[in-house]
Amino acid sequence: MTEKADLTGKVFGHLTAIRKWGKAADGHTKWLCQCDCGKQTSVTTQHLTSGHTTSCGHVKRDRNHTIAPGYEAKRVDGVAVFLLSDKRKKRIDNTTGYTGVKKTHYKNGSTHYVASINVAGVHHHLGTFNTIKEALEARKAGEEKYIPKNKRGDKHDASKRS
Ligand SMILES: [Zn+2]
Repeated sequence: MTEKADLTGKVFGHLTAIRKWGKAADGHTKWLCQCDCGKQTSVTTQHLTSGHTTSCGHVKRDRNHTIAPGYEAKRVDGVAVFLLSDKRKKRIDNTTGYTGVKKTHYKNGSTHYVASINVAGVHHHLGTFNTIKEALEARKAGEEKYIPKNKRGDKHDASKRS
């Protein structure tokens, strides 16, 4: 079981676990989580670690979901840029907190940032960079390249209809 796991600072999709937040009715530990859209929510350990819950609810709940492209574009244009100037809030482990940008550590100890984008279930590698700023720029360029213009602003990913 993962009930005793300390999730503090861990990132689950859009959510970062802040601290324990009591217990759910079924006895599972709940975590107060900061969603990257700015809202806070409480989620059980199980739902976080299983990938069942990856946002405060602003993303349609679907464990196999691809984030609607329009949503990602907005985040890069708005929230992500804002966050660049507010590093205090960020908890870093293997993820940067920015959609599509992951941190990678080389054997020589240097840190690089890998940009990628998922569009309609297809993963596109956008490159590896020395700075997060470059990776974010690549990510933004990737959105320009891979996300069809008419998709932007859509909150629902039409390609995920089942
Ligand atoms: Zn949210």
